[in-house]
Amino acid sequence: MTLFPEMITNALGTSIIGRAMEHGLIGLHAVNIRDYTLDKHKRVDDYPYGGGAGMVMQAQPICDCYQAIREEISKKQGRKARSPRVIYLTPQGQVFHQKMAEELAQEEELIFLCGHYEGIDERALELIVTDHVSIGDYVLTGGEMPAMIMIDAISRLVPGVLNNKESAEFESFQDNLLEYPQYTRPEEYEGKRVPEVLLSGHHAKIEAWRREQSILRTKERRPDLLSQAKLSEKEQEWLKRWEDVDFVL
Ligand code: SAM
Repeated sequence: MTLFPEMITNALGTSIIGRAMEHGLIGLHAVNIRDYTLDKHKRVDDYPYGGGAGMVMQAQPICDCYQAIREEISKKQGRKARSPRVIYLTPQGQVFHQKMAEELAQEEELIFLCGHYEGIDERALELIVTDHVSIGDYVLTGGEMPAMIMIDAISRLVPGVLNNKESAEFESFQDNLLEYPQYTRPEEYEGKRVPEVLLSGHHAKIEAWRREQSILRTKERRPDLLSQAKLSEKEQEWLKRWEDVDFVL
């Protein structure tokens, strides 16, 4: 639900998400809230009660737009249709993270509500929103980019969307660790060689090296994550040896 549907369809209609839509693995409908306003001038916003700067999006077009979407879903799914979760993109929400993406990827239908201007009349939020989600502690001009970020992160977890299933299974945030460094051809670039172990063909050694790199990288860049990672006793011992080492990864 947006005032700028073309922004969403243009951006998400390309690349991996676009291909997934073409293959019918996911569906995306950017619905224009303005189509549901009862105002003869097609207005969807008004001045805030109590004064103050900016405009506020009105409840009526948003709630009517939501009802129309629900009816569409019911027609499609028949009696088994459940009320879909409605996610309001807002800097006041819980900050989005990978676990949330994994959880939302299990849902059949999701509705994203994009605000603009000073935000949305609180009554509409009370009536239809189930989740308040932020993409970070900063304020943007609208909810479209946050919605696209969420849609991208969630869609790539839907089975079949990525060609190589492994690439979604072993990457940053898995077990609260960041991914190890990746290399591709050539073996040497600007005097920098690919780590020898990756050329060895020795799978166990490669796995061990990658695990170590993940742990070290997380320690350096995201120590907050590392404290929640599950490390074996051996790994914890090994990590202690790095405690006083200053390194740049
Ligand atoms: N006045 C609101 C406040 O202080 O909470 C901010 C409104 S913001 C200018 C306009 C819209 O952008 C919001 O309704 C929301 O949909 C979206 N938005 C802005 N920052 C966001 C963020 N960090 N995460 C998610 N959505 C955001």
